[in-house]
This record gives sequence, structure tokens and C-alpha cells, in this order.
Amino acid sequence: MSENLTVVNHPLIQHKLTLMRQHDTPSAVFRQLLREISTLLAYELLRDLELTTETVRTPLETMEAPVLKGKKLVFVSILRAGNGLLEGLLDLVPSARVGHVGLYRDHETLKAVKYYFKVPPTIAERNVIAVDPMLATGNTTTEAVSSLKEAGARNIKLLCLLAAPEGVKRVNEAHPDVPIFTAALDRELNEKGYILPGLGDAGDRMYGTK
Ligand code: URA
Repeated sequence: MSENLTVVNHPLIQHKLTLMRQHDTPSAVFRQLLREISTLLAYELLRDLELTTETVRTPLETMEAPVLKGKKLVFVSILRAGNGLLEGLLDLVPSARVGHVGLYRDHETLKAVKYYFKVPPTIAERNVIAVDPMLATGNTTTEAVSSLKEAGARNIKLLCLLAAPEGVKRVNEAHPDVPIFTAALDRELNEKGYILPGLGDAGDRMYGTK
């Protein structure tokens, strides 16, 4: 569909996602699965991390061995459901810096309203991974990415669990420089902006708020 969309269809991700979609999966299990999937998605998304080498002594000889180049990553959680993906990313890269963008979706207009913004001051020099489980209309995500760019971020990737074609199109048009990684591209949005077949409201399912 789009050159800027990668669907990571590893069997483990697909299996865990199916469990998450089921309406009777309890919140605790839902959160745990989200954390596990985010680690697996991150594995693919971080595939092009830059390496350098350092000299190490094995028990047998000395070698030049690969290590990460040391440019710290910034993970940005788009609140509140982004926090579920953030946990899994931090499991994998505990030294990453973390930012938060608070946006909520006005249920009447489906437009994004910003209420919180806090990112590391060095964001301009770092690779940024913005995380939001559900790429639905794309309004919230597009706004979040715009505010990260206003703060100086230049190298941004987007990680989500589920995407709708409408949201992918919106983000691609507004931010063609931002690659999107997701576990599945679902069919469409309903009239309320929910992804079909989807998994419902990710925040409510994570926190049991409905
Ligand atoms: N946000 C959600 O949590 N679920 C959807 O289906 C769409 C947006």
C-alpha cells in the first residue's frame, strides 16, 4: 500500500495480537501481550541501528566486536495507550530517553487536542521512536509528530500495534519522512473512528476503564 509502512508479520506477533483482539482477554493479560509484542516489533524497527566496534578479549583471542554506536534513542509515548508499548521498548533498550505527548481525541470532531508535552532537550540529535498502539484516523499521531518536529526532532519513526488504511494515508501525506511499523493493517474505520475489526479502545482495555 505504501512504501512507508512495514507490517511485521512474524508468527509470534500475529498469535499474540489475536489473543489481544479477543473481547474477553483480561486487562492484565492484554498489557502483558502488548509489552511482549512491542519488544518483537522493536526488534524489526531497530534493525538499522548503527554499529561500531570495540576490542574485546574472549577466553581464546582478541577481536574487534560490534557494539551499538552509542547515539541514544528517544522513545516518545503518545498518552495514554502509548505507555503500553513503551514498557516493551524499555525492556529492550533500558538506556533510552523517554518523552511523553498528551493528546486526546475529541469524540465529536475526532480531532486531536494537546494537553501535555515533555521530551528530552537533546531530541534534535537523537533517533526518535514515537509509539501509539492504534493508528486510526491518524489525527492524533499526525499532531504528535508535528509537535516533535517543532521541538527539533528530525529522525522519527512511528511504532503502532494496529493501523487503519485511513490513518496510514493521513500520516504518510502529512509526514512522508516518517516510516510506520505495525503488527497489522486492518480493514477500515467505523463512523466513530474505531478500527475494524480492531480490538476496541486500547487504553480502556489496558487499564480496565470501561
Ligand atoms: N483508538 C483505539 O484505542 N481504538 C481504536 O479502534 C481507534 C482508536
